[in-house]
Amino acid sequence: MDKIHIRHQIINNCNYRCPICSYEGEEIPEIMGGCGMNKTLLSDENVISLMEEVVNIVGSNNISYAITGGEPTLRKDLLIKMVKRLNDLDIEDIWLNTNGFLLNSEYLDELKDAGLKHVKITISSMDFLKYAKAIGYQGNISWAKKALKKVLYNTDCCIENGLKVDINIPLQERINDSYEDLEPYFNFSKRGVLVKVLVLEPSGWKGFPKRENYIPPIDVHDFLKSMGGKKISDFDFSRGGLYEFDTGNNEKVTIAGIYFCSPADAKNHPYAGRSFLVTSDGQIKKGMWGDEGKTKLKIEHTTVLERQLRSILN
Ligand code: SF4
Repeated sequence: MDKIHIRHQIINNCNYRCPICSYEGEEIPEIMGGCGMNKTLLSDENVISLMEEVVNIVGSNNISYAITGGEPTLRKDLLIKMVKRLNDLDIEDIWLNTNGFLLNSEYLDELKDAGLKHVKITISSMDFLKYAKAIGYQGNISWAKKALKKVLYNTDCCIENGLKVDINIPLQERINDSYEDLEPYFNFSKRGVLVKVLVLEPSGWKGFPKRENYIPPIDVHDFLKSMGGKKISDFDFSRGGLYEFDTGNNEKVTIAGIYFCSPADAKNHPYAGRSFLVTSDGQIKKGMWGDEGKTKLKIEHTTVLERQLRSILN
């Protein structure tokens, strides 16, 4: 049986302001300005009980459960409780999507104790000036510089603590689209981190983020090939792959390339019919990415939820 992919958005705000953020296709509160939480956010208790209902209906076998946002680490207590409960429910494949800023060693210890084993950290550039631009803090370079230092330190802690770590690099034009931008990540690959270059399509709420914030739509294969990579296998998504780079001294590293399709392509996505998003306001949306399922399904009671999930899943 094919795996079912659940993404649970527990917050729709973030401490970063990345111009390419899709916020999972959800409405962005006080966009690019204030930090006011969306008033429709579910309470911790309601998030947990919705999660339990979803797992109860879908079953804990052969699912992946991603905790996402916005930035999920901003809801610290909830995140720890969720990870613990998902482990109690015997879900093997749990991962956290984060920018890594708040994931200091104390927080990480708590998450590890709760059972977290896998984190996906977005690090858009290893150069602080470019990082500042990528996270929307070009007006406060010194803060962005400290932020990058902190994220790199926290990423090291995750690796040293034996967590499975992926680093996501969403491609942005003139920020991280050259070999010089890619090369500093090779050291992570050498340490067993899965480094992934992501080609994204604008898919967010009301057409946000804007096309001009993205690298022009390119084939991720062409891109990594032009950087000197050689495809060695497919990887997860049909339009991605694993690429080998020769770093000299008889040493090779592997980088993954992934293409996230636009809503228009969504029906051809390898996860089509096997994925859904639980939104921060407690609704269900079809699809893996962004705005594929524009219609949100409001949950009133368990029977309705069950019917809705069955209608989403093949
Ligand atoms: S860190 Fe992630 S959630 Fe936050 S603004 Fe950037 S892309 Fe969006």
